Amino acid sequence: MCEHKNFQAFIKVNRIQDGELGPVIGHEADIKIQCVDCKDFFEFVGVPTGLSPIQPMTSPDFTELRCPIIPSTKVKKPTTNYNPTMTIVN
Ligand SMILES: [Zn+2]
Repeated sequence: MCEHKNFQAFIKVNRIQDGELGPVIGHEADIKIQCVDCKDFFEFVGVPTGLSPIQPMTSPDFTELRCPIIPSTKVKKPTTNYNPTMTIVN
């Protein structure tokens, strides 16, 4: 039985476009974590499945966290949790 002591993470950053040739409307980080020894992927707990531009979601098997991200220099700093209605600063 593996004690899961060594890990590797896989992170992809995707640009989300409005349609196939449309402008970039957002970014998303896809994250997977695997035990190096037994190759088991870890599941993300308490996160709903699917895709969303305003909150983290997981793949149907819970092993890929799909997290919307924003450039920190373009948005007012939130004081608590991320608020998807916050104002973009130009
Ligand atoms: Zn393991």
